[in-house]
Amino acid sequence: MRQKLSKILVTGGAGFIGSEFVRQAVTQGYRVIVVDALTYAGDLKRLDEVKRRYKFYKADIACKDSVGAIFKKEKPDVVVHFAAESHVDRSIQDASPFINTNVLGTQILLDISRKYKIKRFVHMSTDEVYGEIKSGRFTESSPLAPNSPYAASKAAADLLVKSYVRTYGFPAVIARASNNYGPWQYPEKLIPVIILKACKGDEVPVYAKGANVREWLYVADCARAIFLILKKGLLGEVYNIGSGHERSNLVTVKSVLRLLGKPERLIRFVQDRPGHDFRYSLDCSKIRSLGFRPQWNFESGMKKTVSWNVSNYLWLESKLKDIAGHWKKVYHR
Ligand code: NAD
Repeated sequence: MRQKLSKILVTGGAGFIGSEFVRQAVTQGYRVIVVDALTYAGDLKRLDEVKRRYKFYKADIACKDSVGAIFKKEKPDVVVHFAAESHVDRSIQDASPFINTNVLGTQILLDISRKYKIKRFVHMSTDEVYGEIKSGRFTESSPLAPNSPYAASKAAADLLVKSYVRTYGFPAVIARASNNYGPWQYPEKLIPVIILKACKGDEVPVYAKGANVREWLYVADCARAIFLILKKGLLGEVYNIGSGHERSNLVTVKSVLRLLGKPERLIRFVQDRPGHDFRYSLDCSKIRSLGFRPQWNFESGMKKTVSWNVSNYLWLESKLKDIAGHWKKVYHR
């Protein structure tokens, strides 16, 4: 899409990846509208760097009236949809919020976006919709075989988006990214959990023997890929976004501890996550053909992430009182 995209409505813009996208969008001169319910995972501090350079609405995407009123007032050109319940372990405890936000919320956004004739809708999805793969890589045409309630809710949303493309000619594109890491990630995901626990001198929990493999994508690269999809992606298509940097969880944990100068003896193996996918891996030739090249590798990205978290330790620590109960449930089963 080459026409000027001036006003972007970003759902979940106060979250980890959404806020990176908003910071980049504002810096590039887009007019940005952030719609976010500010759940436990949302935090406007992530947008301090671009304060007063975006417009914010606190709203639940599953509330038709609120979302309708925002679209009526703002008339955005495009929508980039990040808002979601995003944590697998929470979905195992209670899938309801995942269905509400990820499925119903997406359907409401799609209907309202259609009503207001949005020019382009980028739906943010995940490699987890494909399930696990022991060897080889998933392509965009691999079947959907999600294993966790989180992944199932994202796959359901992907299918809804695809159905709107086919049925209504709705101008959507789907992005499926691998595991993101970087500044401002909430400490329920692996990397900031390790950092927060290790800095407190606590044991660092690792599921099973830590053999599960993830493809680590630095968040700024992910946001750059979304811009590429927004500008050049073909309507109705799916684009995988990965880095090619696969590491087992144990290797990842050891790397982070090394960067922190903390001993490996802090590692404590805990009971595995139920239904834990062994490995994800993405074939990214399609987005490479749009010109995507990650700028960060595992070593440079982890170094930056660890140093950011150490410098912003107070923010990380401010989440402790919210996260402690969750940690207890998942790491002390
Ligand atoms: P996050 O949990 O950090 O942020 C989600 C944001 O959505 C939060 O700001 C939250 O307040 C908001 N939100 C939640 N429910 C809402 C609702 N009902 N209405 C409005 N706002 C709501 O998530 P993230 O890690 O930034 O992930 C963003 C997107 O990227 C999600 O769609 C996720 O499925 C997808 N994704 C994430 C990763 C990853 O590694 N983090 C990888 C691939 C895809």
